[in-house]
Amino acid sequence: MARYLEPRCKLCRHAGVKLFLKGERCLTSKCAMEKRSTSLGRRTSGWRRRVSGRGLQLREKQKARYTYGMMERQFRRFFAEAEKARGATGENFVQLLERRLDNVVYRLHFADSCQQARQLVNHGHIEVNGHKVDIPSYLVRPGDVVGWTKSGSKTDNYHRIAEEITGVVEPSWLLLDKGNLSARVLTLPTRSEIKTEFNENAIVEYYSR
Ligand code: SF4
Repeated sequence: MARYLEPRCKLCRHAGVKLFLKGERCLTSKCAMEKRSTSLGRRTSGWRRRVSGRGLQLREKQKARYTYGMMERQFRRFFAEAEKARGATGENFVQLLERRLDNVVYRLHFADSCQQARQLVNHGHIEVNGHKVDIPSYLVRPGDVVGWTKSGSKTDNYHRIAEEITGVVEPSWLLLDKGNLSARVLTLPTRSEIKTEFNENAIVEYYSR
């Protein structure tokens, strides 16, 4: 399976925005983007690089792709699915991305980053409705229950999360059972319930050319 080998921080620098790809580190002063904004502020004082309309669309597309850790081919396939569905393509697209199992695991704070969430899924530590699912792109549906497999609940990660889960606030379309470290999908997420760093309309325009 193809995956990124580039350093995560480089992707943020490329996108020009913090994408929170490294968990806790992203919230500290060790974040490469924090250091960069300080030094750039000192060196350039107001200098801005001019980017064309097409370049801006490409940037929004890359931000989304990096956020969900997807390669272009799979990302494009998701977009094609969104185009086929009824309703606004951009909203359909964001909803599809958000329903990915690795993303749900991340949103539930079972992992510090989307990359770590994907590893949990790949390693067979996550189940849906009592069955192991090791496909990160699996799309959850209303009524699904996402939890840990037996092997997953024996990991150090599981025990750490069980201790830290008390203060976690899950997205409103998921209902987290903090005692069992599992969650029920209540509904499909609406656009207003999904927090993103990118503009999906620009992505629609990018692919519509
Ligand atoms: Fe991006 Fe996180 Fe690296 Fe900061 S620490 S540049 S937010 S991946």
